[in-house]
Amino acid sequence: MMTDNIFLKIINRQIPATIAYEDDHCLAFHDINPQAPIHVLIIPKKVIVAHDEIAAEDGELLGRMHVAAARLARDLGLNDGYRLAIHRREKAGHTVPHLPMHLVGGRSLPWPPG
Ligand code: 5GP
Repeated sequence: MMTDNIFLKIINRQIPATIAYEDDHCLAFHDINPQAPIHVLIIPKKVIVAHDEIAAEDGELLGRMHVAAARLARDLGLNDGYRLAIHRREKAGHTVPHLPMHLVGGRSLPWPPG
């Protein structure tokens, strides 16, 4: 298990972040380099390194992350649209080895994305 990734430090309050939501299983905080007026990262408290390392036993946890995302979208007023994104490997821009789900909104979100 990775024990020193930057998101664990945010979970453990070793480095600051603007927290948007927290429960026993997930933490959500505003991205330090936002790509939209609203850009929140929803992460599991348990380390899941990457999307293709999700195990069957993680299904409930991933569901909880979606419930948190839906709640955040409502609470942050994203009534006119939002997007959820998960990156994997270098071509998709995956950087931190602790699966974040990106919630972006507050502007038009063209498809296909860049
Ligand atoms: P990934 O590339 O893993 O899908 O997403 C990582 C995201 O974490 C990036 O959008 C990046 O801006 C964000 N990020 C990286 N380091 C920090 C940090 O220390 N604080 C916050 N709030 N976001 C971070």
